[in-house]
Amino acid sequence: MHFGIDLGTTHSLIAVFRDGKPDLIPNALGSFMTPSVVALRDGHLVVGEAAREIALSDPGQAAACFKRSMGTAKAYQLGETRYDSVELSALVLRRLKQDAEAHLGAEVREVVISVPAYFNELQRRAVRDAGQIAGLEVLRLINEPTAAALAYGLHETPDDEDEDSTLALIFDLGGGTFDVSIVEIFEGVIEVKASAGDAFLGGEDFTEALSRIIALESGVSAEDMALRPGLLRLAEQAKRQLSTKAEVQIAAQLGAHEIDLSLTRSRFEEVTARLVQRMALPLDRALSDAGLQPEDIHRLVLVGGASRMPAARAFAAKRLRQLPVIGVNPDHVVALGTAVQAALVARDAALDDVVMTDVSAFTLGVETINLVNGTPRKGFYLPLIERNTVIPASREKHLQAVELGQTKIVIKIYQGEAPRVESNLKLGEMEIVLPHNTEAQEIISLRFTYDISGLLEVDAKVLSSGTETQILIQDLAGKMSDAECETARQRMQSMKISPRQTAENIYISTRLDAAWAMARAMQREQLTEVILEWEGALERQDPEEIRVMRQNLHWLMDRLEDTHVT
Ligand code: AMP
Repeated sequence: MHFGIDLGTTHSLIAVFRDGKPDLIPNALGSFMTPSVVALRDGHLVVGEAAREIALSDPGQAAACFKRSMGTAKAYQLGETRYDSVELSALVLRRLKQDAEAHLGAEVREVVISVPAYFNELQRRAVRDAGQIAGLEVLRLINEPTAAALAYGLHETPDDEDEDSTLALIFDLGGGTFDVSIVEIFEGVIEVKASAGDAFLGGEDFTEALSRIIALESGVSAEDMALRPGLLRLAEQAKRQLSTKAEVQIAAQLGAHEIDLSLTRSRFEEVTARLVQRMALPLDRALSDAGLQPEDIHRLVLVGGASRMPAARAFAAKRLRQLPVIGVNPDHVVALGTAVQAALVARDAALDDVVMTDVSAFTLGVETINLVNGTPRKGFYLPLIERNTVIPASREKHLQAVELGQTKIVIKIYQGEAPRVESNLKLGEMEIVLPHNTEAQEIISLRFTYDISGLLEVDAKVLSSGTETQILIQDLAGKMSDAECETARQRMQSMKISPRQTAENIYISTRLDAAWAMARAMQREQLTEVILEWEGALERQDPEEIRVMRQNLHWLMDRLEDTHVT
């Protein structure tokens, strides 16, 4: 058996190649998709569904989206301990390994893992390290768009007898990122010709937009932190249903508020039209970087759960003047492709996957101040060099002093993909002295120059005085030595990780709590009884009783969630 893993930003999956085809392996809860989230509960680390529930209700106790900081020194605080993205990814990989082993009754050791095409050497190394820490042997890494092409068998079926290569555009709209890659497939080689994207655009933005509409139409505040988890849950369910239905009804209790409204797909598409429009730029950029026109593309492949939204599909199809290839679930495509590659590796027939290394793997920028309701607010991230930019690159932007008579500006430099700097990695800062000017706000020109050796040069020039200040930042990404990798592996052995059973029980308990919070009075009475029964079973500690009850409760929770959005 040959195994492949899609280590995703929001979800991870494991697949096996057997009997001539790739198959996904379900986790302990019977789902193919394990959330890439780690959380702390009662002093133990939990991974997957339970962690995602905790992330929704108690975000301070959970780490998510850590794939975005692979290969950087960014640390995530969980309780007393700090974890980096390699360790957190190792926990997710270990969970996939253990669940697959339990399901198959066989050891999972050698794997192929997928990585984004734009990952640089350090990030690739970080993924290998995570695999090693999790007790896996990483046979190979494969670019995600390449895996998608393999899952569709594009390497086996030349598109056109007259052409010796196939060009495919992989349109990947995940939870938090949008990536467009153009791959060329010819005799045993898949080459990524171009890759572009928007690190701030994904399915979650559509959920967020929908949650604001639900709040607006229900007369509640979308900013109310107590209501946010409930609003997001409802919006997520409604969004998924609107992919296949023209209208949904939403009925639920959020705190003291009764939510009761109907939403049409056309209203959803109206409020998210601008998000869809943002996909144009990366699409056009990938085509122009590859020197291609839409009609040169033989195949359009959709990847990522959010590519199911009819508006996203229609947009891609219209822009490329063709319908996407269909047949494989967009959430599963990459994982299935990694298992195909694992089988090819075993037969010594692996496709050579040409790696792009001349792009910036991160967005680099500075902290900026924006006006929120007319008041200046700190903490926003202004990118100068976007992720995926071909390097060496040099980019300039102008910044304006906030106040008249301001005599200095402190420029704080960050690396990362989050819209607010607090979630990004701070690389350094520099102080710029401004001439005392009470007539006008001073303007400085800021230039970032980033080269292949990983050196970032930041130059600031005060336009009125011509004064220049410079800072050099080395070592943009942290790299683990072999010894550090070994230490991390030992640390993992000593981490208090919830046993799989306990993690599943925590998941049920958090789901029940969330359901209770959103239920209406009558349902609440019934739910209270269910909760008491569940707690009774936990106290009796009979594993079989607990297992059966867990199954029933999952079924019940699924039905209950369905009643909120119909
Ligand atoms: P991924 O990172 O590929 O797992 O993508 C997850 C994103 O896909 C999330 O934002 C989900 O809300 C979204 N998604 C999953 N299923 C659907 C669906 N049926 N319709 C719309 N969006 C979906």
